[in-house]
Amino acid sequence: MHIRFSEEDEAFRKEVAAWLDDALTGEFAVLRGSGAQDQTAHVEERRAWERKLASGGWTCVGWPREHGGRGLSLSEEVVFHEEYARAGAPGRLNHMGETLLGPTLIAFGTEAQRKRFLPPIVAGDEIWCQGFSEPNAGSDVANVQTRARLEGGQWIIDGQKVWTSWAAFSDWCFVLCRTDPDSKLHKGLTYLLVPMDQPGVEVRPIQQITGDAEFFEVFYNEARTDEDHRIAQPGDGWKVTMGTLAFERGVSTLGQQMLFRNELQAIIEVARSNGKASDPIYRQRIAEAWTGLEIQRYNALRTLSSKDATIEPAGMITKIYWSTWHRKLGELAMDVLGDESELLEAGPYQPTALQTLFLFARSDTLYGGTNQVQRNQIAERALGLPREPRPA
Ligand SMILES: Cc1cc2nc3c(=O)[nH]c(=O)nc-3n(C[C@H](O)[C@H](O)[C@H](O)COP(=O)(O)OP(=O)(O)OC[C@H]3O[C@@H](n4cnc5c(N)ncnc54)[C@H](O)[C@@H]3O)c2cc1C
Repeated sequence: MHIRFSEEDEAFRKEVAAWLDDALTGEFAVLRGSGAQDQTAHVEERRAWERKLASGGWTCVGWPREHGGRGLSLSEEVVFHEEYARAGAPGRLNHMGETLLGPTLIAFGTEAQRKRFLPPIVAGDEIWCQGFSEPNAGSDVANVQTRARLEGGQWIIDGQKVWTSWAAFSDWCFVLCRTDPDSKLHKGLTYLLVPMDQPGVEVRPIQQITGDAEFFEVFYNEARTDEDHRIAQPGDGWKVTMGTLAFERGVSTLGQQMLFRNELQAIIEVARSNGKASDPIYRQRIAEAWTGLEIQRYNALRTLSSKDATIEPAGMITKIYWSTWHRKLGELAMDVLGDESELLEAGPYQPTALQTLFLFARSDTLYGGTNQVQRNQIAERALGLPREPRPA
């Protein structure tokens, strides 16, 4: 693995920084400093921000040019994410479209589907959410019970999804459905693209401990989508879903790490101002946090620059490592704040940025595959230990 920034990369860095600095003014100034945890604040400004980014060619920067992306090299992508975080630019409203659905369509979609769905993602015009999890299908996503049947050239969908991030702000959802009613587990599943704005889709927010409600229950009651909004063949949904989840654990973590850097910096500033930076115990913990961040960065670069990032053992530790690290960072933030960690920003319940970090990071070890599930995979796939018992 060789990631060195060339003179061209450094020139590109200046270009990105200058564009962002200029763009995050006027109506977008309010978004400066709102990172990933600032989940549902300023949704309209963030929707407009997607289009603003698109106007400068800064969406889908890692996609190939033939699919409307900017075709950046890995080092340029790293530079872009670094500068994006350094500028304090907001968490991306169309994260799911750009990093999950787009690459899935590029890998599994038809030419007509790519033509229909990729340009509005690039333009920031259509926002996407992910409809995999259900009340009885989380870690065990193969247990999906939401059904779809084909009638008169349309899929009719019935069932319930849960924890669907951004559902209320999304135009489309990629939904995993059971289309063979007699099938079990991985078989008989189909991957459908479903418009959210229709009478058969009901979205209910779930209040989180952060006070926010960035995820939702979504009820599909005779919801409809066109027959050709199916990715791959009926029954191939499991294969496509595994592809999407591999993207989730892939390149999208790079931008996230840059946000972590800002959070660590904020904690260091608190430690400097309240004297904890001189306390040997806190100095140790801060140095340890920084070390963990550097390890994440090198591991991410190493796995992304190799051909098969998801299957290699190095790729398999990415999710468990960053999520556990981030959860501990939240705990460090609270300890560094000391008594102040119990004071809200404002009433009746508005946590500060660091409190939100602490609370939201509890979920990092759940979504995208829980720590326990990650450890199972490492045990089985990296170490060749016996498979865990599974239902017959
Ligand atoms: C903030 C957030 C956003 C999310 N966004 C989305 C989204 O946009 N779309 C979507 O589809 N889903 C989303 N999810 C859902 C997420 O994918 C699930 O929470 C996750 O897959 C775990 O499933 P579960 O919550 O049903 O827990 P369960 O699978 O019921 O697990 C409960 C506990 O049992 C453990 N466990 C389960 N199976 C095993 C096993 N085989 N061995 C050992 N331990 C096990 C788990 O590790 C966990 O501790 C989101 C979740 C969160 C927290």
